[in-house]
This record gives sequence, structure tokens and C-alpha cells, in this order.
Amino acid sequence: MKPFILTPFILVILAGGYACQKEVSIENQPLMIDKQLQEKATRLAHELVIFDAHIDVPFRLSKKIDDISQRTQGGDFDYPRAREGGLNAAFMAIYIPPRYQKGGAKELADELILMIEGFSTQWPEKFAPARSVAEIRSNFAQGKISLPMGIENGAPLEDNLENLDYFYRQGIRYLTLTHSRSNLICDSSGDPQHKWNGLSPFGKQVVLRMNRLGMIIDVSHASDETFFQVMQLSAAPVIASHSSCRRFTPGWERNMSDEMLLQLKENGGVIQINFGSSFINNDYLRSKQERDRNIYQYLESHDLQEWDEAAQQHYGKYSREHPIPYADVSDVVDHIDHVVKLIGVDHVGLGSDFDGVGDSLPIGLKDVSGYPNLIYQLLKRGYSETDIEKICSGNLLRVWSEIERIAQQLQTKG
Ligand SMILES: [Zn+2]
Repeated sequence: MKPFILTPFILVILAGGYACQKEVSIENQPLMIDKQLQEKATRLAHELVIFDAHIDVPFRLSKKIDDISQRTQGGDFDYPRAREGGLNAAFMAIYIPPRYQKGGAKELADELILMIEGFSTQWPEKFAPARSVAEIRSNFAQGKISLPMGIENGAPLEDNLENLDYFYRQGIRYLTLTHSRSNLICDSSGDPQHKWNGLSPFGKQVVLRMNRLGMIIDVSHASDETFFQVMQLSAAPVIASHSSCRRFTPGWERNMSDEMLLQLKENGGVIQINFGSSFINNDYLRSKQERDRNIYQYLESHDLQEWDEAAQQHYGKYSREHPIPYADVSDVVDHIDHVVKLIGVDHVGLGSDFDGVGDSLPIGLKDVSGYPNLIYQLLKRGYSETDIEKICSGNLLRVWSEIERIAQQLQTKG
């Protein structure tokens, strides 16, 4: 029994706890009770284009190299499992940790771009680069998985607008303006210090230049002020490549509020729902925050670093004594439903954050083989094939096309 079971914090969690019975098996996959619907979901997953806006393969492989053309032991993405799940295109996130804002960000981005390009040159029958909507479609027709690239954290621009053009030429098609710390472009949702109160003067130039280049603006991780200023300034629609709805995680700025979603609709953009349990389930998020606080206090009071053995042991013990139940695939669909009810089915898609959220993925969506489970849940809730197609890729492709069109228009105007 937990010694602090009746603290006000825990009571709050209990009061807001799950109401619904989850359809899950112990094998970490949802029980697909309706056989016919299951077959339909699997068929659709393989017929439709599935385009995930945020997968962290470069981050994962930069820690431990793995052959993703084969089935891998760990990790959430590899070619065989992507095929099983029906995944056709995935933005590879070139994640630049905030500590590189002091230096080395551009070099790291260059290295990771080379890594991703290497997948298509090494395994050309399996993967292909994609720099436009047309290339996503032609790769799909050839049965190859598209690997377009986005940079997560604008630090590699290093205060030089020409670097934006440089990265566009290198094939980068979206830029997540910042990460968990404010940077040279804007404030972050994860940083208590709001240095710029939104976009910096340089950040405003970046937004306008991105419109002109046809680079997708990604507002995930940005602070609320940053988001609303981008909405004012951008001539083109934007994406949130891996965010969920704040309605389910009150007060957590990393997710988007209803007010922001309404603005996103006006802008014509799209929110790509993050699958991580802490993004989609408030019980999970609060328990994780409690665990993080405990671990942090332990490290502080024992003068330890997180990689020290004693720290690891404490983490293991705490986690065993306070297990946090995962969310499941129906929680992800709750977020999709919420967006659809609030702003319509044309503004929501998938941004799993596979290989980026660690061991926090929901039951039924543990890796890239899980998309049919998501489609099954959508069918179960009465979504039409047309709507499912929009959610799986249609909305993201529409937004990207619109960004390409606006860029052309701006360039011909001179
Ligand atoms: Zn992220």
C-alpha cells in the first residue's frame, strides 16, 4: 500500500479517474472483438496512405545504431513493422536537443540529414526521400515508404536566415520552431522563462521566410503567445506535428487548448495527435509528474546524477512500487473525436512521436504496426472511410499542398 495514498494530490487523481472499461488484452493489444471490422481496418490501413507527421528514428539511432531495414529488438519503427501497420510516409524528426543552442546545432542537423538520406540510398527498394506532396504520392505508387525530413528545434539556423534556405535545399520540409527551451526564434511551452513574449524579431523573419520557401511551420512545443503570433503573421496554414488536446490535460501547455484549435481552423492548419500516454491521459501525466518530482528530489538530496547506479536503482524501485497504467488506443481516438467535434474532420491527423516518448506508448499502439488498431477504433465510432482517409494522411497532404501553392504565389510576385 502506498504510504501517501490519501494525499490531496492522489484524491484529485482519483476524482478525475477513468470512467470507461478498456477493451484490452494482457498482450498489449486491444481485443479486436468484431472480426469483420478488424478485417476492414486492416484492409483500409493497407489501401489508404498513412502519413505520420513525427517519428524520432534519428534521435533513437543517434543513441544506439540499429538496422531499421530489418525487424529490430527495441525501438518503435522498422521496415517490417511499418509494412504490417500500413505506414507509407513518416516525417523523420531531426531533433536538436536544447543544449546544442550554445553551439554545434547546425553540425548535428547536417549529420542527422545524412543519416536519413542514407536509409534511401542503402535500401532503395524500401525507403525513398520525399521533398514534395507529389513525391509522397509517387513513392506510394511504387510501394516505397517516404521519409520526408523536419528539424525539431530551430537552433541550427544559428541566427542566420540564409541557413533556412540552406536547410530547405538539403530537403528539410518542416521546422518545429523550438523545443522544450526558448530559443533564438521564440518561447517554448516547456520553458518558464518567456524571453520574447512569443516570437523574437528574428523569429518573425523566419516565419515569413518559411512561407516564401514553402517550408511547413510546426507549432508543437511553442508557447501559447508564440502560437497566436504565428497565426497573425503566417500567410500559410501550419501544423502541430505532435501535440494533443489540452482539454484532457488541463494546464499542460505542451498540448493545444480549445482556443488554439479554433484559431488553427481559421488558419486552415492541422493538429497531428501525439500518442504518448502523458499527452493523452491526465492520470498518466499527473502520476508521471509526481514520479519525476520524487526522482528529482532524490537526486538533489543525495547529490546524484540520473545515470548514477544509485539513482537508477531508486528509479527502478519507485517505478515498481508506483506503476503507472498506460493509456490505450481509445484515448488517442478520444482526442481525434474532440478535435472533430470542435473544429471538424479536416484539421486532425497522426503525429505518433514513435521512438520519441520512451516507454509510454498506449496499449494497442506500441509501435508502427499498430495503425490498424487505431483505424478499428475509428470505424467502431462510426467514422466513414472518407473521414479516416483524411485523418490518416489527407489533411496533412492538403495542408502541405496549400503551403507549396502559397510559396509559389509569393515567389512569382517577387
Ligand atoms: Zn517533440
